[in-house]
Amino acid sequence: MRKKRVRMLMLLIIFVMTISACGQTAQQTLDKPTIKIGYLPITHAGPLYLDAHVHGGQFEDYQIEMVKFNSWPDLMDALNTGRIDGASVLIQLAMKAEEKGIDLKAVALGHKDGNVLISSKEIHSTQELKGKTFAIPHKFSTHNQLLYETLKKDGLTYDDVNIVEMPPAEMPAGLAGGQISGYVVAEPFGALAVKLDKGHVLHHSDEIWPDSYCCVLVLRNDFIQNNQQAIQEMVSQYVKSGKLANQKGEELFASFDQFMKMEKEVLDLSLEWISFDGLRIEQAEYEKLRDLVIEMELMENPPVYEEFVDNTFIDKAV
Ligand code: ZN
Repeated sequence: MRKKRVRMLMLLIIFVMTISACGQTAQQTLDKPTIKIGYLPITHAGPLYLDAHVHGGQFEDYQIEMVKFNSWPDLMDALNTGRIDGASVLIQLAMKAEEKGIDLKAVALGHKDGNVLISSKEIHSTQELKGKTFAIPHKFSTHNQLLYETLKKDGLTYDDVNIVEMPPAEMPAGLAGGQISGYVVAEPFGALAVKLDKGHVLHHSDEIWPDSYCCVLVLRNDFIQNNQQAIQEMVSQYVKSGKLANQKGEELFASFDQFMKMEKEVLDLSLEWISFDGLRIEQAEYEKLRDLVIEMELMENPPVYEEFVDNTFIDKAV
């Protein structure tokens, strides 16, 4: 009888401890919002990887949960339906979502420059791309715009080349196998073809369009409005991480190791081409990109700067 009572007492203690532990977790979550950020495993999300790696995603006013995706459409679907609160994403995809009525705000750039046009080694000029098949990751991408600008600059039109959309990870093999004669895509897939000796750099993005925008950090506006303090701290931290990422030191490589698997020498080359500093989205640059979106007939009514970009947080970042 006594044994039974002791066992009952033990069970009661365990029950109470479990309840209070749950209560504590719930309380912590209430006090400290979790910001779910979607990403693809590309070098362009360096500052975000550093945030999540160096601090383990834990900060005073918030915590970051990194959510990995393997394709842009999957990531955009999660963002548009609110399964994630924000993302490191191609700016054109976010603009398209905004045009469709999803209330997003771009709060910082992911990087500047850092893209290359890769071609097979037999091709040495843009003109030689005429009649060839060339891959891009998505029509809503800076890569597509860089290709368009390159062709225009070198006297070709978009119709002179057979442009196909292809998942980034398949591009180096597609080039090696001869299905495509070249591609332009987020890194490290350009550097990978160079290191595998399957292709070479036909053009660097900064020759075609200096300081070009590509990936941005976007957040759902409803999440921003409900978590202003956390977002301020997050963007301030993100700017610091951008500066650290731009040093391209050990911490950055360690964070890449956590979020994407790629050999160091490929990353080394890839990082030579990219800048993580100066991550504020400037109006003049945005307008240039927006005008090109209209010229290429990618969107009829892309969002205007004031509607799409929210610099409130980056301007207060210290
Ligand atoms: Zn990018």
